[in-house]
Amino acid sequence: MKKIILANPRGFCAGVDRAIDIVEKALIKFGSPIYVRHEVVHNKLVVQNLQSKGVIFINELDEVPNDGVVIFSAHGVSNKVENAAKTRKLRYFDATCPLVSKVHHQVERYSKLGKKVLLIGHKGHPEVEGTMGRHNPNFGSEIYLIQDQDEARELNIPRNSEIGLVTQTTLSLDDTREIIEILKQKFPKLEMPRNDDICYATQNRQDAVKQLALEVDFVIVIGSKNSSNSNRLKELAERCGTPAILVDEFKDIDLKKLEVFNSIGLTAGASAPEATVQEIAKNLAELFNFDIKNLGQNKENIFFKLPPELR
Ligand code: SF4
Repeated sequence: MKKIILANPRGFCAGVDRAIDIVEKALIKFGSPIYVRHEVVHNKLVVQNLQSKGVIFINELDEVPNDGVVIFSAHGVSNKVENAAKTRKLRYFDATCPLVSKVHHQVERYSKLGKKVLLIGHKGHPEVEGTMGRHNPNFGSEIYLIQDQDEARELNIPRNSEIGLVTQTTLSLDDTREIIEILKQKFPKLEMPRNDDICYATQNRQDAVKQLALEVDFVIVIGSKNSSNSNRLKELAERCGTPAILVDEFKDIDLKKLEVFNSIGLTAGASAPEATVQEIAKNLAELFNFDIKNLGQNKENIFFKLPPELR
């Protein structure tokens, strides 16, 4: 029988759960509109749902009126943005994932020690902008963004520099490991966390999609095009030799293409709702007479507290 296999774990992580909860609790407590700086998490359906409840997504704080309530997205913000909110005495809530905040603290610590800071990440991603913006140049420190192996090789700073390394939380584990190896060889005084800063949710979903890709003919990753961790899942499936697509919802799937496959794997990025996974699995099962099975177990048991005012 043809089958659909669901990867475990998949979908929402603790940081995304918390960020959405913060927005929903703020809506209940303060009423609409609630302003959110940047997409609270990178998922089109989550954003549309919150917009329908009265959330206004903005790019910059000057779009918020003085009596407005504003929330910072799960990706985190720079010191400059946080200080601007304080200066204007805006009522703000920080939905930054605590695992991103941990990276911010590392950057602040390295800065105060006067170390050069290397950040492995993707230019333009809001998490990277927030993390770069936590660097403090007042102690003689400098920060450099490294996007790939070439940039690591070409980085032109003295070999014996005191250096602290951090990474974006949603990168490919394999790619990051290779970049770190190059940096370790180049800079003997490189200080870094025990492994890297790639979060548990990214790691677990990447491990699960590798397993999934070996079991199926085709992988559907549910997630938005601007979701870093969802893109990494699609790339990983393809690197395992299994064709893959990234879709927001059922209507994005070219059903004709699926007719030839005997087994289809489904997974979801850390910002993609489980309801979408279930809807896609159910529709495909009905259309193609697929059996639905699970692969692996979801052993994640991580929760992050809400800000006291919203508990
Ligand atoms: S993907 Fe990781 S860092 Fe990002 S919100 Fe989820 S747990 Fe936090």
